[in-house]
Amino acid sequence: MRAKAVICRELNQPVVVEEIEVAGPGPGEAMIKLSACGVCHSDLSATNGTIPFPPPLILGHEGAGVVVEVGSGVTDVVVGDHVLSSFVAMCGTCRYCTLGRPALCEIGAKTLYTLPDGSLRTTDKNGAPLGVFSGCGVMAEYATLSVKSLIRIPQDAPLRQAALVGCGVMTGFCAATNKAKVEPGTVVVVFGCGGVGLSAIQGAQVAGAVTIVAVDIDSFKLDLAKLFGATHVVNAKGEENIVKTLRKLTGGGADYAFECIGSGEVAAQAYGALRKGGHAVIVGVAPPKDSTSIRTASLTFEEKSLSGSYFGSARPRVDAPRILGLYKAGKIKLDELITRTYTVDEAPQAFADLQAGRNARGVIVF
Ligand code: NAD
Ligand code: ZN
Ligand code: ZN
Repeated sequence: MRAKAVICRELNQPVVVEEIEVAGPGPGEAMIKLSACGVCHSDLSATNGTIPFPPPLILGHEGAGVVVEVGSGVTDVVVGDHVLSSFVAMCGTCRYCTLGRPALCEIGAKTLYTLPDGSLRTTDKNGAPLGVFSGCGVMAEYATLSVKSLIRIPQDAPLRQAALVGCGVMTGFCAATNKAKVEPGTVVVVFGCGGVGLSAIQGAQVAGAVTIVAVDIDSFKLDLAKLFGATHVVNAKGEENIVKTLRKLTGGGADYAFECIGSGEVAAQAYGALRKGGHAVIVGVAPPKDSTSIRTASLTFEEKSLSGSYFGSARPRVDAPRILGLYKAGKIKLDELITRTYTVDEAPQAFADLQAGRNARGVIVF
């Protein structure tokens, strides 16, 4: 199948749009006709080496579409099903899947820039293979994925909004509900108000947090944060001591803090903003050599926790339909996350806009 796709050809260069060839599904695979794909900061991170995937790479891991063909032995999905891509392949049988922690699936951890079995179904116009972001590569009109990388969703969920649940929304929302298990009446601080952070704010709100402080360096993002449920906002730009400011604002520190940026420095701020017994969750993906520093004794004397959350520590096949149910019931916002849509040919602009912080989320529609 011929398809237009968004590709990182060279690190630190703008993405390019090319006609590619997508082979049909082998055993255990399905071909998807994409309707929409969100542009996540992790896609940008793959174009600059923060996430070290070698080019050439088809970007996109926040896609939604319709199954158009299935390979032999496929029983999990049928033609016509509406699906999301999952940037973590989930085998269903490994230790972590069995524990109910599929975000840590052993097959998923090995699926980096090929399908889970190490093969590729994508080639360029010269017949050279093209890698796929986390087994997905769904910033393309068509993609062939392992069914391990698919999440079925209800047919009545609008696909543009649903696409965002495939990464940013599930990651942020479930970091609050599944990882931190935010309790009613608590105080939350969220650092970084992009698609992920805004979703953490919504997760905290649904869980019953009463004070939600949003921190960003961009006033446009802080206005969005208020729309999504933040009760207070702090612009970190120009703050001499952000931790002190937050501790004062929260009356002694937060019960939960979420780092949704990808910075060791901000991870330390998130930990520093906690009260005794508080829990800081690192959601952002920092560059490989980045590190953070905390006062070791504070772990003991103050019983603070520092943890990380991958894919929201979600059970994506359960949590995606639940999140879409909350949207349908009017309890969370997804429409407002889509600041702008782009055609596939406009993808370079979508990446430039992400880098410049112009969108809550930009979405490529096919
Ligand atoms: P985004 O670019 O849309 O948002 C990041 C926000 O952080 C921006 O609003 C920016 O202004 C703000 N920011 C930057 N530096 C800051 C600072 N020093 N202090 C306060 N705010 C600051 O990104 P996104 O798509 O929401 O993704 C956020 C992070 O989450 C990225 O690192 C991404 O790779 C990561 N991510 C992680 C997972 C996971 O499974 N854990 C999944 C998806 C994305
Ligand atoms: Zn993502
Ligand atoms: Zn598994």
